[in-house]
Amino acid sequence: MSEWDDAPFLISLSWALLDFHKHSRCHKCAEMGFCPMQEAARNRIRMWRRYRAMLR
Ligand SMILES: [Zn+2]
Repeated sequence: MSEWDDAPFLISLSWALLDFHKHSRCHKCAEMGFCPMQEAARNRIRMWRRYRAMLR
């Protein structure tokens, strides 16, 4: 069982987005040189991990 099995929908989405950015760029990356989408996803995952750690 992976730690993502019970992840909320938004978290799985963020994870998929980070995964996508490992080998490609979205239109936001191309426009701005850095990716706000990726930043947001990273923050969301970090907060979720902290939340999960608190529950244990
Ligand atoms: Zn991007």
